[in-house]
Formats: sequence, C-alpha cells, structure tokens
Amino acid sequence: MEARLTNTDAAGQSAHPDLRGWLQWLAATDRLAVARKGISLIDELAAVAKKLENERAVLFPAPGKHSIPVVANLFANRGWIADSLGVPSVELLARFQHAVRHPLPWAEVTAAPAQEVVQQKIDLLAQLPIPKHNEHDSGPYITAALLIARNPKSGIQNVSIHRCQVSGPDRIGVLLLPRHTLHYFRMAEEAGVALEIALVIGVHPACILASQAIAALDQDEMEIAGALLGQPVEMVKCRTNAVRVPAHAEIVIEGRILPKVREPEGPFGEFPQYYGPRANREVIQVDTITHRKNPIFHTIVGGGTEHLLLGGIPREATLLDHLQRSFPSVRDVRLTRGGTCRYHLAVKIEKASQGEPKNIIMGAFGGHYDIKQVVVVDMDVDIDNESEIEWAIATRFQADRDLVIVSGAQGSKLDPSSDNGISAKMGIDATKPLATEPMEFKRIHVKGIENVDLAQVLEGDPKAAFARIVAG
Ligand code: MN
Repeated sequence: MEARLTNTDAAGQSAHPDLRGWLQWLAATDRLAVARKGISLIDELAAVAKKLENERAVLFPAPGKHSIPVVANLFANRGWIADSLGVPSVELLARFQHAVRHPLPWAEVTAAPAQEVVQQKIDLLAQLPIPKHNEHDSGPYITAALLIARNPKSGIQNVSIHRCQVSGPDRIGVLLLPRHTLHYFRMAEEAGVALEIALVIGVHPACILASQAIAALDQDEMEIAGALLGQPVEMVKCRTNAVRVPAHAEIVIEGRILPKVREPEGPFGEFPQYYGPRANREVIQVDTITHRKNPIFHTIVGGGTEHLLLGGIPREATLLDHLQRSFPSVRDVRLTRGGTCRYHLAVKIEKASQGEPKNIIMGAFGGHYDIKQVVVVDMDVDIDNESEIEWAIATRFQADRDLVIVSGAQGSKLDPSSDNGISAKMGIDATKPLATEPMEFKRIHVKGIENVDLAQVLEGDPKAAFARIVAG
C-alpha cells in the first residue's frame, strides 16, 4: 500500500478518526464490497460476510426492512489492521506495545455527531439493524459494541467487548467473563445499585483494537486508543448517565446493568468455532439510543476472521511484552489461526543458550491462561505460515527430548476438550541445536531465485511458443 490513511474529509479538512474514514479508505483501495438492498438480517447477512471474510469488507445499504446500513469485515487479514494504524505489518506489535506503555488521555467535548439524534422510546430490533449470525445463536446479537463502564468509586472507565443478546425491546442479555466490567458490576451490585454503561457501535478500528488490550484493571483502554491514533480521542457525556463515549461514534446505546437480575442468554457462536452455552446471565436495561443523522451499524460475525484477529493481535502484543521482559532472545510471537488466535502460540527466538526454549515455553504458559500449546522456532522460520511451523516441528523436534507437558492447569472454559476449563499444556522446542555440523541443519536454497524476473525469462504467448517447438 503506497498511500497512507489520512483523516481528512471531502473538503480536505482534518477530521477526527472514525469508522467512516476507515470505510472510505477501504473503498478507495478496492477492499469494500457493497451488497444489494434487502439482504435478510437473519442468517443471510452473516453468510455473505463470512463468504468474503478473508477478502473484503461488506456494506449492506438496507438490510431487512431497515434504512440503516450494516458493515462487516473491517479486517480481512493482519495487514489491514496494520494499515488501519498507519504502520507496516512488521511494526504492528511494536506499535501496539508502545501505545499500551504510553497511553494518551482523551479529551472531553460537549457537542458530538454521535448525539445528533436522540431516541427515548426504545425498540431495539425496530430501531437498529441487529443481525443473527451463526445458525444456532439464540437470536440477534450486538457483537461489535464497545461496552464502556465506570468504576463506581473512582469514575475511571473500562472499555471491552461483550456478546449482547437482544432479549426484549429495551433489554439486552450480556456475557461478563471474569474481567474488568464484571469487577465494576460486582462493586455496584454489592452497593445495591445498577452499573451505568454505554454500548458504542461504529468507531475507528484503533478504538476497537484498544478495547482488546490485556490492560491492568483501571487502565482506561480509550487512552490506549488515543496513543494508537496519535491524538486524544474526543469523548462526550451520555445523555442519561455519566459514562463518556467516543463523540465520533455512529450509535450509542445508553443503559444500566441491573443488580440482582439474571436471565437466559445464549447459545452464541464463539471464537473456538463452537457455541458458548445458554445460562442465566446479567441484563442491561436500555434507557436511550443516540446516533448520527445517517448512522452505520457495525457487526462482527462470531468466530469469523475479524473476531479472531481483533482478539488475537492485542494479545500477541501483550504476550510479546511479557516474554521479552524475561527472555531478550524472543523476537516475535503469533497466535496461529488454526489455534483460534487464542490457544496456540508460536514464538520466534534468536537462540542463545541450550535449554532456553523450555524456559520460554514455561514463561508463555504463565502469560495467559488461554495458552494451551507453545512452539518455539528459530529465526529462519516464517511464523505467519503454519506450514513452516509444522516443518520446523517435523525436522527439528524429537518428542522424547523436546516436549514439555503440564497436566491439570487453568485453561479456557470455551475449549470443549477441557474439563470445565481445567486443561493440559504442551510445549514444543522446535529449534535446532546451537552447535551443529555446518551442513546438518542448512536449509536448501536455489541460488538466484530472489532475482528471477519472470517477465524477462518467459515467452509472452506460451501456446504459440509451444506450437512452434512441437512443429520443429
Ligand atoms: Mn480493562
């Protein structure tokens, strides 16, 4: 990509980074497909998006009977994510690490495009084009909303994404895994009050990525977004509560997580490519919806490429940070696609000591409980290519010598092979020994392949050339 994304409007005026800017850039670089009007919000929209998940973003101008367009597939591969942050792919993790270490506080504003229209009478499915995604999902889900909540004591905000089931005209069932939103909600519930929240739909990719950082409790992820963007995110106070939301969002749903209320939520198609089960979960009471005059609704297909990448890349940056603190030989990490961008980690090292890969394996297990398998490889292995990782295992690994197994550790509850989240860990040292005979592990190479110019060496019309050859 030669040109860089610049945040300017049609008149060339500097504009605040938002979803529209990213969509304009995708359209300008031929990465945005536009669907015909009338695609059904039930199954069909997700099917079209999923079909294109590794190729194009898709805009659905008028899905179902709605006039509000839906967009899906903001990211088709990790190169798009780097592009959205204005960095080359090789600098993506370093950029994210830097933003987490150097957050940029947001700026409060009083007027916001996100509040151009205020709806006080709420009927979610009538007002918003909310799709049903995977076949056995319990119904329509809001999947791409930033859930912003305030620490009830300090007012510090947390930003994260949760699956949100439409349970009634103004009711949303929400899954709160044991992280920061749940921590704030428990504080509110113990005090006998609701937790004020906002669901923010349609923001710049940097805000979505920042929400997935494995940050400390009470580190406001919107400050990481500001650092990623290189400018403070403009935030505005909600109309019915004290939560501050990105002023340039498309749609904001204001509400409260109710104390002492639990209602059925699920099943829902999740990142491991299985359904998360139905159970009684927390409930959001919706108070108000605000939006732009002509809003765009963003949806993420559960378990699709966008979902996997969005969760994976911020985790990679965090795990790289964690490993490099103890092991300077660690150069890069990937959460592989086959490992659902969560469970299987490849670590590339510049090996300096025999035995060190096993220490790195044990360090990686401690980086996040989701990590189930770690493969350590040398610098000559392309960790973006899962076949290369397997090749390293095939030719540099011996199971009786290079394998680490840990039983009965904490794992992912969404891994159906685990015993309700109790899981084994496997580490594979697929590095070559430090001292070897010169030719023993020398990778084969055809001399000059880097310099071959096919236009120079091949005939332009092979059919005619072949006919001349066989004619003698
Ligand atoms: Mn947090």
